[in-house]
Amino acid sequence: MKPRIHYTKPSITELEVGYATDAARNGWGEHCHEYINRFEEAFKTHLGVKYAIATSSCTGALHMGLAALGIGAGDEVIVTDTTWIGTAAPIVHLRAKPVFVDILPDSWCIDPELVQAAITPRTKAIIAVHLYGNLCNMDSLLKIGEHHGIPIIEDAAQAIGSVYHGERAGSMGKFGAFSFHGTKTLTTGEGGMFVTNDSDLYEKVLTLSNHGRALTQTKQFWPDIIGFKYKISTVQAAIGCGQMERLEELVKRKREILDNYRLHLESVPGISMNPEPEGTIIGAWMPTVVFSKALKISRERLQDAFKIENIDARLFFWPLSSLPPFSEWSLTPGKIAKDISDRAINLPSYHDILEDEQLRIIALIKSII
Ligand SMILES: *Cc1c(COP(=O)(O)O)cnc(C)c1O
Repeated sequence: MKPRIHYTKPSITELEVGYATDAARNGWGEHCHEYINRFEEAFKTHLGVKYAIATSSCTGALHMGLAALGIGAGDEVIVTDTTWIGTAAPIVHLRAKPVFVDILPDSWCIDPELVQAAITPRTKAIIAVHLYGNLCNMDSLLKIGEHHGIPIIEDAAQAIGSVYHGERAGSMGKFGAFSFHGTKTLTTGEGGMFVTNDSDLYEKVLTLSNHGRALTQTKQFWPDIIGFKYKISTVQAAIGCGQMERLEELVKRKREILDNYRLHLESVPGISMNPEPEGTIIGAWMPTVVFSKALKISRERLQDAFKIENIDARLFFWPLSSLPPFSEWSLTPGKIAKDISDRAINLPSYHDILEDEQLRIIALIKSII
């Protein structure tokens, strides 16, 4: 069998190993926050935001941010049908209702017109997910949000390195959330970041993130409210500090890999890939190929062909509304979300992927067609 090509693995150098080792050796007692503070500072500077709180995951960052906005039972949160469950699970944890909205056929991100149509008096937030590093139409979403007084939240878990008309993904909404899971462009193994420019929201999340103990509280072991425990560890933050120093290189490499796929595949009739409209730069987390309907290529056929070649085939996300946790609401999946997920695939894109490996993948796709 041919050697396996993984779809993703982290890029870890001596720099990250050095910081992690130092954190394991010295990052205790009065030094226990040093790498965490440094990681948050570097992230704020990169994104151009006022506040950042490192967390144990993106899911945790979203959960705390939504809780801090006061979202609870009876509320509705509008969210794209095409995303990972981590975007929607916090809505359910807060006993609010996720209202799934279909995607646009080109960006695969939430359709602003359908968002507008889904707004009810119960709508308390709209979550924009920059899918695979592609960018949502933020101008339209922010306008809708402003008009109705509803906060726009950015799930930028997949969008580090993506820029929308000069503004970094994650920095434009009421708050943004990032993931540093092992599959993401920048990784700490597990980890995340909450970011905002809103000082009140920042203070609320800071209190929530500290088991409900306000910074101003002087009594020891005295939580004022029930909070959360979604903290990052010093060793993870140390790895994050190394990754932040290499961020430009990490994103550049992701873009190179996407460009190489584009060079060979985009001119093939019936294939479309991640769009990059004028005025935007995409971080290119997941190079993705959508096959035209006319090609009649099924998900099963794609999976089989990749399996035979020993190449990891990563499926396009299922519409969340079609998954078991949401069955009680008898939802109808978004037409486009369902249609695209049946005929699309993410291509391997780890930083150290070889030219030969990319050519093997490209040849396979051409042979499937
Ligand atoms: C990875 C991911 C998450 C979850 O991130 P965790 O850090 O694993 O909690 C949420 N939303 C999207 C869009 C993701 O890709």
